[in-house]
Amino acid sequence: MNFSDLFTNLQAWIFETVVQPLMFYCGLGEFIEDSFEGVEWFIFGVLQLIILFIILRPLEALIPVQPIRNGYARWNDFIYTALHRLGAFSILVFFVLDPLLDHLTAILHFQGVKPFNLENIWPDMVNHPVLVFLVYLVVLDFFDYWYHRAEHQFNWWWGLHSLHHSQQDMNLWSDNRNHLLDDFLRDIYMGVIALAIGVEPRQYVMLVMASQMLQSLQHANVRIHFGHFGDRILVSPRFHRLHHAIGLGHEANGKGTLGGHNFAVLFPIWDILFGTALFSDEFVKTGIRDQLPAPEGCSRDYGQGFWSQQWLGIKRMCGLEKDMPL
Ligand SMILES: [Zn+2]
Ligand SMILES: [Zn+2]
Repeated sequence: MNFSDLFTNLQAWIFETVVQPLMFYCGLGEFIEDSFEGVEWFIFGVLQLIILFIILRPLEALIPVQPIRNGYARWNDFIYTALHRLGAFSILVFFVLDPLLDHLTAILHFQGVKPFNLENIWPDMVNHPVLVFLVYLVVLDFFDYWYHRAEHQFNWWWGLHSLHHSQQDMNLWSDNRNHLLDDFLRDIYMGVIALAIGVEPRQYVMLVMASQMLQSLQHANVRIHFGHFGDRILVSPRFHRLHHAIGLGHEANGKGTLGGHNFAVLFPIWDILFGTALFSDEFVKTGIRDQLPAPEGCSRDYGQGFWSQQWLGIKRMCGLEKDMPL
């Protein structure tokens, strides 16, 4: 029995013993077919968590940047990761968008408008699947860069994104420590772009997985970099840590202006091209200035648990907290 058979058997077993009876019990029989695919994403998510744990956790013990001071904060980040990856949040959004955009495309087609598709300008693309995968990865990353930059540009958006930056004990689970509303906006944005450039659903799953694995590595508490040249090709833990640094990554000039450096998600080329790149040999401390005690900060609390973090994010977004953090 090969890996593919094993996977299909496991998927069928989980589906028949858990999902199907549960769905009938809840009166959701009409969604049975969709949920079979859902089981597949769930298994991918579990595999992802296992791989991350097996590879990154020993590395964090072996070559840490700093000792973890707050074990609870790391556990809380794990909840975010499990929620996001097992629930396959972004993939779910994509599959909801897919039929909606199909519908929209049909309407546009009816009116004589032909939406952009990579295949239109590159008819031979089916013969180069690896190259196509890389092209999609780069194009999606370009749009991700601008989304991330916008999160730092607008006060209300920073109100949400600051939750991600408030982790002073960055670790392998910190990538998904985000406000759910921000996650939702980003997944819609990325899903629409992916569909607009003709990414197939199965390809999208693989693109998201590859991107997520790299992003988990970037946040891990490990002294890893890809060297002078490599750090300019692929975002390393050292490069992304600079983005999380007080006064460097978020505050561009330290004078209270929103801005910063190293917004790239996978490829630093965007930071280099658009003038936001910052390289250093240091593995810097992370956090937000107003978390520091007075006089530098005001010991601002970004919440310890999941719900308090979500609630405080909403308050910051709506300007209900005085002295907007920088
Ligand atoms: Zn950021
Ligand atoms: Zn980050």
